[in-house]
Amino acid sequence: MDRKNVWATYNGKQLEELECHAQEYMEFLNEGKTERECIDAIVNRIEKEGYQELQTCIKEKRHLKTGDRVYAVWMNKSIVMFQIGKKPMAEGMNILGAHIDSPRLDIKQNPLYEEGGFAYLDTHYYGGVKKYQWVTIPLAIHGVVVKKEGTTVEVNIGEAEDDPVFFVSDLLIHLAAEQLEKKAAKVIEGEALDIIIGNKPLTVNKEKSEKKEKEGKKNKDAAKEAVKKGVLSILKESYEIEEEDFISAELEVVPAGKAREAGFDRSMILAYGQDDRVCAFSSLKAILEIQEVERTACCILVDKEEIGSVGATGMESRFFENMVAEVMELAGEYSELNVRRCLAASCMLSSDVSSAFDPSFASSFDKKNVAFLGNGMVFNKFTGARGKSGSNDANAEYLAHIRAIFDKEKVQFQTAELGRVDLGGGGTIAYILALYGMNVIDSGVAVLNMHAPWEATSKADVYEAKRGYVAFLENASL
Ligand code: MN
Ligand code: MN
Repeated sequence: MDRKNVWATYNGKQLEELECHAQEYMEFLNEGKTERECIDAIVNRIEKEGYQELQTCIKEKRHLKTGDRVYAVWMNKSIVMFQIGKKPMAEGMNILGAHIDSPRLDIKQNPLYEEGGFAYLDTHYYGGVKKYQWVTIPLAIHGVVVKKEGTTVEVNIGEAEDDPVFFVSDLLIHLAAEQLEKKAAKVIEGEALDIIIGNKPLTVNKEKSEKKEKEGKKNKDAAKEAVKKGVLSILKESYEIEEEDFISAELEVVPAGKAREAGFDRSMILAYGQDDRVCAFSSLKAILEIQEVERTACCILVDKEEIGSVGATGMESRFFENMVAEVMELAGEYSELNVRRCLAASCMLSSDVSSAFDPSFASSFDKKNVAFLGNGMVFNKFTGARGKSGSNDANAEYLAHIRAIFDKEKVQFQTAELGRVDLGGGGTIAYILALYGMNVIDSGVAVLNMHAPWEATSKADVYEAKRGYVAFLENASL
């Protein structure tokens, strides 16, 4: 089958829209480097577009009618949005799903230590990472510290131009002969991914220490772990954080810096966290773009996909199902059976990034069945690994329906597998929604160097995905 590059298919107006979408997407990436930051960025946008908080609607016993827009956030890390359609919800919704967590280094609960004159924060990596990619690059710390009394301190350090950054060290090449003999998986070990956060001992008050010495007292402030103490005093001063507060903190270490255009032709975007914020953002834009729809449109953006969709904020949580029930109640349609009917009759595009063909590693892909950067939105009939294991394998009838919609709406798509058979694989959230019996297919955007600190996408694919999501929300009905 022929593959077309999508760039050549656009008219002038579309190229303008494409650039607009790309710029807005890059801003979103800069605003949202953690799940929590993404949720804030999303809520800010959707409230301006008339979305109302579901909990408020419940409290006020509001009746939801066609065209109403509601959203619910769970633990500041997952969100679901609904735009009520003309048809009863029990006849099914059109659902867009994606995830907003990305691979990174998480700070441990007892992280602070000093060694060899450096203060460190101990980390445990989150999601699948090639550990050697995370050394010697500027890193930023984002997250929250929740104090015992319940106040939340938001941390975002390393992004402003005059902010300090952090880093993980690597052995100099001159002494690396032994290290370079190791397997790439062992070159940098997980426990070696601790970030360096300081090197200056706490400056002790000279007069005070001399007085203490005269009095024959030991000067506790000096010498022992003075660099760590120095860092602690800065944390106290700038954030009112004590060492114990790390216990109730969620601090994520991510590559520092903004999303950038890539290539002389500025055709690509190089940025952290595009898996899967590229699909999340394009899904969000699509649900904001649609006007009146037949079937209720839904967009769910979840946390914890990178570690198996577990936990209260992952796709496996009942959060989504509960919110569907709440919306149906306010729409005057609730019954246990109607909720089940709604979920079973729904159609979903479960979006996640797909691996783009990389000519430098051509042998890892089946060139006939891999996504190419710039060739449009991607559909993966199945994902999984080793004999499709763990995959949601979308129904052929559903694929035919989607094909028909995309052809009618002139949205360009390509079909793909992650890589060569038996080489590896990956999961998405598709199989979890499929548990309800609904039609679900994996779809999304191709990414080069997925899960690396800096990932690359094509602006054209990002735009085409948004167009595809709109076409789906407006037309899917199976
Ligand atoms: Mn991933
Ligand atoms: Mn993903």
